[in-house]
Amino acid sequence: MAGATISGFMKKLCGCGALVAAAVTAVSALQAKRTISLVVTGGTVVTENATRQIVSPGAVAIDGTDIVELGPPDALAAKYQARETVDARGQVVLPGLINTHTHAPMVMYRGLADDLALMDWLQKYIFPAEARTVSPEMVRVGTRLAALEMIESGTTTFADMYYFEEEIARAAFGAGLRGILGQTIIQFPVADAKTPAEGLARAERFIREFKDNGLVVPAVAPHALYTNDKTTLVASAELGRKYGVPVLIHIAETEDEVRAAREQYKLSPVAALESIGFWGPKTLGAHGIWVTDEDIATLKRHAVGIAHNPESNMKLASGAAPVGKYLAAGVALGLGTDGAASNNDLDMFEAMRQAAFLAKLATHDPTALSARSALDLATIGGARALGMERLVGSLEAGKRADLITVSMAAARQTPLYDPISHIVYTTRGDDVRTTIVNGKILMKDRQVRTLNRAAVIAEANALAAKVRDAVR
Ligand SMILES: [Zn+2]
Repeated sequence: MAGATISGFMKKLCGCGALVAAAVTAVSALQAKRTISLVVTGGTVVTENATRQIVSPGAVAIDGTDIVELGPPDALAAKYQARETVDARGQVVLPGLINTHTHAPMVMYRGLADDLALMDWLQKYIFPAEARTVSPEMVRVGTRLAALEMIESGTTTFADMYYFEEEIARAAFGAGLRGILGQTIIQFPVADAKTPAEGLARAERFIREFKDNGLVVPAVAPHALYTNDKTTLVASAELGRKYGVPVLIHIAETEDEVRAAREQYKLSPVAALESIGFWGPKTLGAHGIWVTDEDIATLKRHAVGIAHNPESNMKLASGAAPVGKYLAAGVALGLGTDGAASNNDLDMFEAMRQAAFLAKLATHDPTALSARSALDLATIGGARALGMERLVGSLEAGKRADLITVSMAAARQTPLYDPISHIVYTTRGDDVRTTIVNGKILMKDRQVRTLNRAAVIAEANALAAKVRDAVR
């Protein structure tokens, strides 16, 4: 079609040599255009690359699973012919957000028990509710609901720790999300394992099944220092090393945990895990609130990633992680929501905003965590914490095409002076228009393509009736 237009144009210009030559050049440029699968064009592209470049207006050319090139829309339009186009004019284009700590199926316990301290909340409500209701069906239904919420709020990668993790893996893969998914190992009998040995065997089967999946990275997730004995913790770390997969754990979440570790190990939780050889470059600790300067140095030395969960930490009054100290020490720090029972949603925009606010409040210093740093935590920082910075976390040629477009048209986003300020301080998950993972569009113009929205919500409501009966 474009060729026909040019030839018509040439006929009109007959007799004018220079213009004909120019038109011929245009025709050969058209013929040389590379066909690609997708272009996202016209938006303000916030790359999160090493120089934190912003291209406005910008375009992202995608072929298959990867980003091919970024640049001004005209320059890319001259080089590429895309099979599908996302018009991002008036929007901000961001790397997909990375949730470094959650328990996806716990969306089924959203609002079930609030306003309690962690140990009361866990022991009186969550653990009993889980004992009665966790099943492959609950995990499948809950994960589909969580996936819907994540896609609709711009999360493209999530790190998870739960039971029946193979169900989570299948549901996440079906929805098109990227996941670091950890099979929980815990000392007491749970729905999917009567003993930690059974849990470890289940984790090994899970790792073997998903080791070569393009989207799901299987992992081992010993719940915490205080819910596992030394033998189980060592075996979990060894299993991770045997297969070269990540190991995820809750660490230094409460002052009670520190007291228990001091009694049992005569050490801080971080030091206790170091003393048994637990830490390594593929380990990720969630929370890391009650840590000493020495603990931070230990985490840095072992290249441990930390998942900061400001909303869960505030809601359970667990404390404020020393975000500034982690960043100053060069620890790979990401951001998480934690499970929806302690947050109560999976909106990473809210997590960014609360991370900035909490850091400021906790240090009495409004410069403690800037909007720019909060965005870093939710993108490239999370990728580093998960050891995936070569694949995701920024928009750069050669990386996987995980990106979102975000509307800036709401009253609360007007006027727009600085997109970074708005992303962190006024934007909500609902403002996300497009979510792309691995080059595949999961949502366009807020229409989710990989899940049947009405069916997912109906299924979750039907299951909630069973949860309500079980905990009554
Ligand atoms: Zn957690």
